[in-house]
Amino acid sequence: MAAEAEQQLRAYVDYLRDLGVYDLYRRGEPDLEAESLVLPSTEAAVTPPPSAANTSVEEVSPPQPTIADPPRQTAISAPSAREFPETEIPKLVSFDNLAPLPEIRLAAEDKAAALTAIQEDIGDCTRCPLAYAGRRKIVFADGDPNARLMFVGEGPGADEDAQGLPFVGKAGQLLNNMIGAMGLNRQQVYIANIVKCRPPANRTPEPVEANTCSQFLLRQIDVVQPEVIVALGSTAATYLLGVKRSLSGLRGNWYTCRGAKLVVTYHPAFLLRDPRQKGEAWKDLQMVMKELGLKAPARS
Ligand code: URA
Repeated sequence: MAAEAEQQLRAYVDYLRDLGVYDLYRRGEPDLEAESLVLPSTEAAVTPPPSAANTSVEEVSPPQPTIADPPRQTAISAPSAREFPETEIPKLVSFDNLAPLPEIRLAAEDKAAALTAIQEDIGDCTRCPLAYAGRRKIVFADGDPNARLMFVGEGPGADEDAQGLPFVGKAGQLLNNMIGAMGLNRQQVYIANIVKCRPPANRTPEPVEANTCSQFLLRQIDVVQPEVIVALGSTAATYLLGVKRSLSGLRGNWYTCRGAKLVVTYHPAFLLRDPRQKGEAWKDLQMVMKELGLKAPARS
């Protein structure tokens, strides 16, 4: 088996193990002649996904005819793009309904360790297809574990993937400026994303990716317990609030999320493409400043 194929197969088996699938079988006797037409004869029934972006928890294919046929066991084979069209996850669930709200506030001095524990739980995560889609670094978060204000974006881009920190590219520069205009700096807020691994070509995270990753963001929010969360763009708003509505329909109102007040504004990457909307985003940030009693810094 070519080294690359073997590596892919190994990664896919690890992925299945993370999903709790340990027993992989080949069914039936191998038809060596037929197999040799498509694969080297040593290829197993479990083949790596053609593109990890096409895999999902539910997307385990029916048995493939191969060797030993264990009784009453289901054979597992890797999905292929043709077998697994995109499935929609119809029911969005707000973060408030995913788990009971925290009853206690962690002491400020315990928050950093609690966040480190979450990061350790994530480990070298292979729980969703983004682990196999070319990610380099898992982007956990940045900022003050005890922040009053938290920003949530969509997912890492190329710069974030390279550095392992959220919002460090061009959109990050703009976010830094937005934070500065509120009279704060980046070290005084907490910044995270809906997904912690870069989606290929910066596409929107698939529901299975966002839903798989959400558990960790939810735990981060419950540790930091910010007073205000700003959802940057519609992906953040959709998954935090569990509703899919237009950004213009969501802006300008207060929502709740894990005991924090939440406001929705434009994603900085969108503002880079359409700077005319910066004034609108500033209105959203002024709502936050009023809520937190922040004053814009005097212009020099
Ligand atoms: N866009 C995001 O949504 N998050 C980042 O971390 C960077 C860009």
